[in-house]
Parts: sequence; C-alpha cells; structure tokens
Amino acid sequence: MSGSLAIVGLGPGPAHWLTPAAQAALDAATDLVGYGPYLDRIPVRQGQTKHASDNRVEVQRAAHALELAAAGHKVAVVSGGDPGVFAMAAAVFEALEAGDPTWRALEITVEPGVTAMLAAAAKAGAPLGGDFCAISLSDNLKPWEVVTARLEAVLAADFVICLYNPISKARPWQLGTALELAAQHRAAQTPVIFARAIGRPDENVRVLRLSEAIAQAGTADMATLVMIGASATRTIAREGTEPYVYTPRSVTKSPCATSQGRT
Ligand code: SAH
Repeated sequence: MSGSLAIVGLGPGPAHWLTPAAQAALDAATDLVGYGPYLDRIPVRQGQTKHASDNRVEVQRAAHALELAAAGHKVAVVSGGDPGVFAMAAAVFEALEAGDPTWRALEITVEPGVTAMLAAAAKAGAPLGGDFCAISLSDNLKPWEVVTARLEAVLAADFVICLYNPISKARPWQLGTALELAAQHRAAQTPVIFARAIGRPDENVRVLRLSEAIAQAGTADMATLVMIGASATRTIAREGTEPYVYTPRSVTKSPCATSQGRT
C-alpha cells in the first residue's frame, strides 16, 4: 500500500515544544485529521487537506484516517501533547484491530510529543522526581467507580498523582471529590499544583496546599493539569512568586508508615 499514517503529538502548545520529527511528519502529510482546535494550531500548507472533527468521535475519526491512508493518502492524525496519552493513538489502534484486515499492511508511525504533565512539572520544578502516575478524571470512557478505585490504590501507595481532564461543564464535581479522597491519605499541607494552559499565552501555575485545593477545585478547567504531591513532595519558597515544588528521588519510609502518619 502506498498510503501511510503518522500519529503525531503536537506538544502542549508552543511551536518550540513540537519535536523536529513531529514537524517532519506534519510537513510530509497530504491530509491532517484531528480535533478542530488542534488542527487550527498547524499552519496550512498548499495541497494539504484538513479534516476537522468533534472531540468525542475518536474511533470513527481514526477509522476515517485509516480509510484515507488505505486510499493512498499520507495522513497525519494529530493530538495535543503526546498522542499516546489519553489521546488519538489508542483510538487508531482500536480502529485498526476492528477494521479492514488490509489496513494492517499500512505504514503506521507514532511521533511522541511533550505531554501536559511533563510540561507542567517543568514549570513547577521537579515534582515528578519520585514515582508518579497519571489518571484521567473523565468518566466518559470508564465508570467513576474505576476512577475512585485507582485513586485509592495510588494514594495508598504514595505516588505523585497527575490528573488529566480534571473538570468540565458536564463533570463539575469529580475534581473536588478526588481531592477530598486524597485528603483522607495525605496531610492537609501536601502541595497540589494547578497548571493551566502550559506553554500558551494564558499559562498559569498555582501551588496550593491540599486543603486550599479542595476549596478552589472549581477554579480548575479542562485546560488544567492537576498534580497532587506524595508525602515527600516539598516546596521551596521564593520571594514574590510561586514556590518551587520537588519530590526527592530518595524514599526513606514505606507507604504503610506514611498512611499511619496521616494528619
Ligand atoms: N494527549 C494530551 C492529553 C489529552 S487529555 C497530552 O499528552 O498532554 C486533555 C487534558 O490534558 C486536559 O484536560 C488537561 O488536563 C491536560 N492538558 C493538555 N494540554 C495542557 C496544557 N497546555 N496545560 C495544562 N494541561 C494540559
């Protein structure tokens, strides 16, 4: 088959956080497929066609991209951040598994991007210096009980927790509930980072205490990445600006000892 499919991560926003390999994949494409606002970030090149779609129909969009590639087009499917993190890459492979067996002969590549939690961590200091995990708070694709069971497990294990999709108009209470759950395992002064629109003109990083974060959960939105510190995560105060946040790489106590010491 002459067509190809590149699944491309655009990074969190600015062009200088797009990898050269991702840029090359975009330049080589005849067709760009993705959620409208992501496509808007890519300058149009002559001879390139953009296929914008809604955010909710990922697998159909992926199947459409595979059809285009099978018809001989050089297709780039784009996602913000990294395409493999809560984004299009999994949808493409889901469509590939269920779809026309001839699609499996297509050349499919994944170009990684800077995911939101790494960009947010870099702005805050080094909060991901110890073990960490990422959880999407969206219950569009999984039951809320699954989210809470996973939160309970990683809180008990004392991970730093990155929350993607923390809140939306349709899901206004989940972040507050997640933070209240965290307060059952972590001290009230645990650092919590609200990192909004990282890399974009309206970027905003706030370092809160867990107790403050619960009270301010409603100030987060869909452009926010929330990071809950582990028991060892600390802040370094700075004059006139947000403190640095870091998690030491060395661990001296077991998670069991941590939960016994909860406040
Ligand atoms: N594939 C993307 C994540 C898609 S899920 C990635 O790797 O980053 C969408 C969620 O990502 C948002 O709700 C938000 O939590 C987070 N996010 C994406 N871009 C962001 C940015 N520039 N700043 C802060 N959070 C961001």
